[in-house]
Amino acid sequence: MWDTLWTDCNLATMREGGAPYGAIQRGAIAVEKGRIAWIGYAADLPADLQSRAHDVRRCGGAWITPGLVDCHTHLVFGGDRAREFELRLKGASYEEIARSGGGIVSTVAATREATKEALVESAAKRLAGLTREGVTTVEIKSGYGLDLETELKQLEAAGELGPRANVRVKRTFLALHALPTEFKEDRAAYVQLVADVMIPAIAAAGTADAVDAFCENIGFTTDEVDYVFSAARANGLAVKLHAEQLSNQSGAALAARYHALSADHLEYLDGAGIAAMAHSGTVAVLLPGAFYFLREKQLPPIEALRKAGVRMAVASDCNPGTSPMTSPLAALNMACTLFHLTPEEALAGITREGARALGVLDEIGTLELGKGADLAIWDVHTPAELSYWLGAPLLKERVFAGRVA
Ligand SMILES: [Zn+2]
Repeated sequence: MWDTLWTDCNLATMREGGAPYGAIQRGAIAVEKGRIAWIGYAADLPADLQSRAHDVRRCGGAWITPGLVDCHTHLVFGGDRAREFELRLKGASYEEIARSGGGIVSTVAATREATKEALVESAAKRLAGLTREGVTTVEIKSGYGLDLETELKQLEAAGELGPRANVRVKRTFLALHALPTEFKEDRAAYVQLVADVMIPAIAAAGTADAVDAFCENIGFTTDEVDYVFSAARANGLAVKLHAEQLSNQSGAALAARYHALSADHLEYLDGAGIAAMAHSGTVAVLLPGAFYFLREKQLPPIEALRKAGVRMAVASDCNPGTSPMTSPLAALNMACTLFHLTPEEALAGITREGARALGVLDEIGTLELGKGADLAIWDVHTPAELSYWLGAPLLKERVFAGRVA
């Protein structure tokens, strides 16, 4: 017996090589034990099979896509930076904000102070924003502890959110995010602590799938990232990188040398970086929310990425400093309006390519026989509406591992 059969629906399977969006119009999809057990045109569904489902759900012509995959967030943190946002808009300088205790330092202090339970509670509200718009898989980075105890606390909090919200969570140790004030005079000692102590401890605890870093002139150098990536590799963890967001540091090329899952932001990515990413199959994760919030002018090299065949994902980058956004659909809209992605590229970016950027494309990200049955069912006439509306309540139903969640 099938557990559930959805009929009278259109399917945006996001499989490659066929119709736009991998569309199957007037389709049907059945799930059994959390997996897709049948998918195709409703006309091809044998009549005797229809009675094989416990629950038959008629969708009234709705579109079904893969559950959304938000592959880059910093969802777990203490406090927020709304006061700083307000001060800045009243004309305060960065120095004044820093002196009044603002900036990432304030998030680190609030995260260190918070209990794990408090971190779970505050992140759960932001996660509800994502799931309300169809997210079934989310990546969550640490990086606001800058000491082992707090980084572990953040990663454990991230792990508790999954079962609580019926979401698949992939966790990333953001190893080099900022230099903690206690190491202000000795960066090398901090990088060494991260590589030699924190990464082995986090790998042993099994609380992260990947290691990330912020490679930037106001962050960490490629040599420092290189050192930390070797430690990640030695401890069996995948790597990914915040690269070329505010300047070109050739971080993406370094990430590609390590066969990174993804290089993210990429506004200042150059031709050599694009070629390296194409060669290694590293996904370009585009984060239009941060571009918007920071009012950046430099666009990522979308056309060159397309030409080189680099896969492009889209994510919310939800974080308190530069992208306080809990709407994946807003990210799609911004990817189209600001970065000129097509609505099909944007949707692929937050389904198939998001899954590829997390190394879970075998399991989710497209609607295919045998894959996990994570679905989003939308009250739209065409999948382009998902990128078109800003703020419309489009989600009818979210299905996680075969169950309406
Ligand atoms: Zn980020």
